[in-house]
Amino acid sequence: MNSEVSVSTALDQLALGETFTFDELVGAVQRSRGRRLRIVELVGVTGRDGLCAVWFEAGGDDVILHAQSDSVLHEQQFVLHELAHMILGHEVDEDSDVPDILLPDIPPETRRRLLRRQDLNTVKEVQAETLADHLAAAIRGSTMHRSRYLEVFG
Ligand SMILES: [Zn+2]
Repeated sequence: MNSEVSVSTALDQLALGETFTFDELVGAVQRSRGRRLRIVELVGVTGRDGLCAVWFEAGGDDVILHAQSDSVLHEQQFVLHELAHMILGHEVDEDSDVPDILLPDIPPETRRRLLRRQDLNTVKEVQAETLADHLAAAIRGSTMHRSRYLEVFG
């Protein structure tokens, strides 16, 4: 998974079609990486102050820790950003400084430190955010299709 790919290639490789659900996306990422993905909400840490999410590897699994937000869509965006890094073949942040933690027993002081401020000035971060926006649009599309379907047949 070391080769980096472009946003459009990454979307094609997922082979999920134009629209898909969040769960379908998570399933596709797990299949393509051949490992389990755990998504853990950090209770008590909010998305304010740029604290969003972090991705790291633990015990052979991928783990995404994300902050809480009043908005479900906002929380989803935190996770989509990290999923985008995986899909784009980016490496786990070397400097994310994740201690040997036992999830979910992470001390409150450590929780804040885990989620660094998003630095959107690097090419990788811009790519990840761009792909995350595409993913969010595709997920919104699937929700709209579904509700339209319910309107007609429900
Ligand atoms: Zn990032």
